[in-house]
Amino acid sequence: MAELEGLEFGKSDFVLLDEVNMEQFMENLKLRFEKARIYTFIGEVVVSVNPYKQMDIYGKEAIDAYRGRELYENPPHLYAVADAAYKAMKRRAKDTCIVISGESGAGKTEASKYIMQYIAAITNPSQRAEVESVKNVLLKSNCVLEAFGNAKTNRNDNSSRFGKYMDINFNFNGDPTGGHINNYLLEKRDIHSPSLFYSMIGFSKEEIDSIYRILGTILILGNLQFETDSESVQVVGSEAVSHIAGLTTTEPDNVTKSLLYRTVATGGGEVIEKGHTEKEACFGRDAFAKALYERLFCWIVARINAVIEVKDYNPVLHGKNTVIGVLDIYGFEIFDNNSFEQFCINYCNEKLQQLFIELILRQEQDEYQREGITWRHIDYFNNQIIVDLVEQPHKGIISVLDEACLTVGKVTDTICLESMDAKLGQHPHYTSRKLTPSDKTMEFHRDFRIRHYAGDVTYSVEGFLDKNKDPLFQDFKRLMYNSSNPVLKEMWPDGQLSITEVTKRPLTAATLFKNSIVALVDKLGCKEPYYVRCIKPNEMKSPVLFDDARCQHQVAYLGLLENVRVRRAGFAYRQPYARFLQRYKMTCEYTWPNHLMETDREAVEAIVTQHGFQDDVAYGHTKLFVRTPRSLFTLEQERAALI
Ligand code: ADP
Ligand code: MG
Repeated sequence: MAELEGLEFGKSDFVLLDEVNMEQFMENLKLRFEKARIYTFIGEVVVSVNPYKQMDIYGKEAIDAYRGRELYENPPHLYAVADAAYKAMKRRAKDTCIVISGESGAGKTEASKYIMQYIAAITNPSQRAEVESVKNVLLKSNCVLEAFGNAKTNRNDNSSRFGKYMDINFNFNGDPTGGHINNYLLEKRDIHSPSLFYSMIGFSKEEIDSIYRILGTILILGNLQFETDSESVQVVGSEAVSHIAGLTTTEPDNVTKSLLYRTVATGGGEVIEKGHTEKEACFGRDAFAKALYERLFCWIVARINAVIEVKDYNPVLHGKNTVIGVLDIYGFEIFDNNSFEQFCINYCNEKLQQLFIELILRQEQDEYQREGITWRHIDYFNNQIIVDLVEQPHKGIISVLDEACLTVGKVTDTICLESMDAKLGQHPHYTSRKLTPSDKTMEFHRDFRIRHYAGDVTYSVEGFLDKNKDPLFQDFKRLMYNSSNPVLKEMWPDGQLSITEVTKRPLTAATLFKNSIVALVDKLGCKEPYYVRCIKPNEMKSPVLFDDARCQHQVAYLGLLENVRVRRAGFAYRQPYARFLQRYKMTCEYTWPNHLMETDREAVEAIVTQHGFQDDVAYGHTKLFVRTPRSLFTLEQERAALI
């Protein structure tokens, strides 16, 4: 809890609200935004509101103010969290992670950059050249991904990624030795062209050339048209095909063939070529363009990882290798029309919420244990039931989807919804119009609704099956694998599989996604977590507009009230005795003007007793724990009257 600021800037920690309700939360959030206080704590969590203007709070002075300090000594800031994570890593050899979530445009990536900059600024005081170069590469690799991932698209200037996780490795000195990046890609939209990015990661000339060739191919595919004449489908104009063949170093005939035909294995094991309809050809072309971009992006990430990975680390010589992970990931998404992408993102957020509750509770429990305070059960909503609804084998939504995708024959989205209704109709967090006919906010045979921890979301099942299938015909993969360009070939290793090997049981998009999220949660689960929750104040990128409704939605979807409740369920406030004494000594005759007690703890006891809230506190080995914020207000008021 930051105490250095007056109350005219609102409460710097939401746990200090008189009551935990949406109204008070929003009032405080808005007041602080208007007073240019963009950060507010919830205990150790930082809530951030995108200021949409340059703030003079990130310079060297700020870095020095936060460096090595305790969280509550300074006003809320990203630096406070970055420093807490760094201290835990360095002093206690704990792996830590900083989870930054919020919707697109809320300020996640900016936050992750400030955090990285802070860590870069406080490490390697002796300026050792090899560490400096590691730091440089880490910071720059972030920019490379940004430049590439944030490529402006034809229709949408949002990035196509939805999540990025970066591990930074440290040696026993607390200096960075390397890192690793994981990317969570979801929606692949029409790509225009990324800004320049490659100067610094050490791509070879051939590689840069290949990157341009791939981007060129994607552009040409974007303009490529088909026509149907006398019952056969043709590519309009021959230049496009020869252009693509030239760029990808493949045979024009093979390019045409991949665009117009697909190889299929018949039931009898026979392999035949089947001509596309015009619609199928368009579908194939778009899937190919998207896959080219996705593979290119993954390849670039892999290249960056090869450059930044920790090299020559010997734990015997160098001590334990510790990690700070930084996760930049979309929060809950709720649009007017929610589809497969929102379903995946929201499932991911359920998983993260579960981890959050588990870890926050564990963190609390650990601290109580360290301080010798009895642990009392905390009541909270456990969202395991929603996670199960989505991911349970044989029963969950993903499993029903996968089954529908693997069924031979015509399975439609509607049939899939029917079987979800049949399997999940009894589930308390699932419903559809068919199950509750009176609910006119959903459409028959189209919508289903999940009661998420953050609120109800109605999903349209339209397109779920197509999006869940691997949409890319094997013919394109084979075409790329057979390119004489080694870089392209390297990106398409699965192109060497024969058609009979491929059709067995490909993993679906939802299952691949689930697996990656489970792996992510495992990675985060063994680390000490720190959280940054980002809020976008308005849709106009305005520095002065606070859109109450939009902000309130985000507060709800980020689960911030639940967060305050969990935090307050135990002890809302805690502070080392010496610091507490320092702040409030003038309010008590035993401690002011002279400290008459033997120990700081006894002095604090005297203050607490004099103000009559001895039943509201617990005395730990090194800290005072206060259950309700009200006790502290009394103290604050008295202090304010005296100084
Ligand atoms: P996200 O990663 O959540 O989609 P970004 O971090 O890219 O969002 O932020 C979007 C834009 O908002 C940035 O390009 C920048 O203009 C502005 N912005 C975000 N955070 C800050 C900040 N702390 N200070 C100033 N501007 C910011
Ligand atoms: Mg971003």
